[in-house]
Amino acid sequence: MSKDSPIATDDVKAGTVPDCLRCCKPVALCVCDGVETIEARTSLLILQHPQEQDRALGTARLTALHFADAVLKVGLSWPSLSKALGRRVHDPSRWAVLYLGSAKVDALDTDRAIVAINRKGEVEANQRAILEDIEGIVLLDGTWSQAKALWWRNAWMLKCQRVILGPRQVSRYGKLRKEPRRDGLATIEAAAMMLAGLEHRPDIEATLLASFERMLAKYREAQVTMPELAPRPKPRRDYRRRKRA
Ligand SMILES: [Zn+2]
Repeated sequence: MSKDSPIATDDVKAGTVPDCLRCCKPVALCVCDGVETIEARTSLLILQHPQEQDRALGTARLTALHFADAVLKVGLSWPSLSKALGRRVHDPSRWAVLYLGSAKVDALDTDRAIVAINRKGEVEANQRAILEDIEGIVLLDGTWSQAKALWWRNAWMLKCQRVILGPRQVSRYGKLRKEPRRDGLATIEAAAMMLAGLEHRPDIEATLLASFERMLAKYREAQVTMPELAPRPKPRRDYRRRKRA
């Protein structure tokens, strides 16, 4: 295949819809050309569940493409943070993992958008010191249950700093996503919020969210022109009604 072309030419020959090799999306949904590299001091590790197959609406790869040293791994478990990341990490407690447990920011006594919590789900006392010391973040990409599976299969995450988010607005996915996702946010939205918050860099959030908006605009366009690429979410079955009938 051509080195210059981001399109998998084998797919073109096979007569199927070609994918972009960078974001792995069907070319009609690709926004790679406009991806701006973001200089951030916080490292980013995205772990994607192998069954996460939302090629059309997934954002893990798009997120990683924005950073020169972001690492995206597909799998179920890794023996340590260093192994997952592919480089030595001396202090995993300086890595924040977006926690999936039941703790909700609304229920905690804080007005912060990013909250470091302890193993009991309580707000850590020294928020500022903890968050300023974070050197990397771990995001789990997949449905809620897939992200949960990743959490339970990677015991080393217990050594990382748990962080939860209190998004000020709902996900830009809107009704496009049929399944409830972790924290209701796209991976790119979670990355945007965490990195911008930790680094006091609203520009990071703006850049990532602009990419996400472009991706969603392409998707909505494809829903009209190429519905096979961008299926509308199926209406939820109402089992109660079926029972009654
Ligand atoms: Zn692409």
